Amino acid sequence: PAEVPVRSLKVLLAGPRGFCAGVDRAIRVVEEAIRRYGAPVYVRHEIVHNRTVVEELEAQGAIFVEELDEVPADAHVVFSAHGVPKTVPAEAERRNLLYLDATCPLVSKVHREAERHFADGGPESRHILMIGHAGHPEVVGTMGQLPAGAVTLINDAEEARTVQPADPARLAFITQTTLSVDDTAEIVEILRRRFPLIEGPKREDICYATTNRQEAVKAIAPGCDLVIVIGSPNSSNSQRLREVAERSGTPRALLVPRLSNLDWSVLEGVNTLGITAGASAPEALVQEMVAALAKRFTLEIEERTVKEENVTFRLPAPLG
Ligand code: SF4
Repeated sequence: PAEVPVRSLKVLLAGPRGFCAGVDRAIRVVEEAIRRYGAPVYVRHEIVHNRTVVEELEAQGAIFVEELDEVPADAHVVFSAHGVPKTVPAEAERRNLLYLDATCPLVSKVHREAERHFADGGPESRHILMIGHAGHPEVVGTMGQLPAGAVTLINDAEEARTVQPADPARLAFITQTTLSVDDTAEIVEILRRRFPLIEGPKREDICYATTNRQEAVKAIAPGCDLVIVIGSPNSSNSQRLREVAERSGTPRALLVPRLSNLDWSVLEGVNTLGITAGASAPEALVQEMVAALAKRFTLEIEERTVKEENVTFRLPAPLG
């Protein structure tokens, strides 16, 4: 019998995708801490929102906990890339824990912005509106730089339309780093229209990596029958990538943590598949998926890079 021809599949790889400089640094902090101080090293919260990364670090001797009370005395503990409220290092100091802060420098920058607007609660103090998603650890960490009541969270455009600050003349806004660029622009426009004196960042707080990954997926999505975003469900920037893809013209976009989670039936009828990865997803997971696809299809792979990135961050003291 004649051989059944292998179906062909075009794969568009979005670039940039995957690891950002903050994630790369946070992982290096844990690895370097284990190397210097020996296992176990405790990590408060998933160092970055990716199961594969967490499992690989666990295999090297990291122990992940949610709160500091799970860390024994005299242990080393790393704070995750998302940042922590001020109460966390204070508690670590009270307990004489040796802590390392893997907060992304671009998140720390937003923390300092928030403090500048708050100005110690003095006459120059502005009430802060933080655009972000309730419950995300970055939001908890950023709001936790200031006393309760200093920051009001704005989750969406509706909340921007209805928020009633006590003094509309003394306002500032900051944002989470991993938001949708387009949604945030809309929210900022509403706030600026309602509160013309509101102060904001010169360039927005959404980080370069979030911005570039969204641009890259926008560039491939219109030509794809399906876009797969490799990333974890609790990863904010991965979730936004999926939404951006779907709004940019592809009929369907799926968040898939890794190959083992892929339901192959989604590829039925797909001729062009787009692939990208969230900022916390290792490139190895992309390559694992491409290798599996190559076994089932005749692949035509095209990389579409919209921007080159060359950002790196030094390790924090005392590792740097
Ligand atoms: Fe830092 Fe942006 Fe990466 Fe978050 S996504 S860790 S803010 S570079």
